[in-house]
Amino acid sequence: MNSCVSCGRDCSIGATSFLCPSCGNNLSRCDDCKLRGTHFSCPHDGFSGP
Ligand SMILES: [Zn+2]
Ligand SMILES: [Zn+2]
Repeated sequence: MNSCVSCGRDCSIGATSFLCPSCGNNLSRCDDCKLRGTHFSCPHDGFSGP
């Protein structure tokens, strides 16, 4: 199951997957947060970015 790295809610629908630029961990972000450009933080290494 995918949970959004920005808001933490379930985002199995309409989520965008991308890799953490720092550690390559697979992250998902919901459409909402993507559109808003919400910052994320990687749960693996704490990297944060737009
Ligand atoms: Zn979100
Ligand atoms: Zn990371």
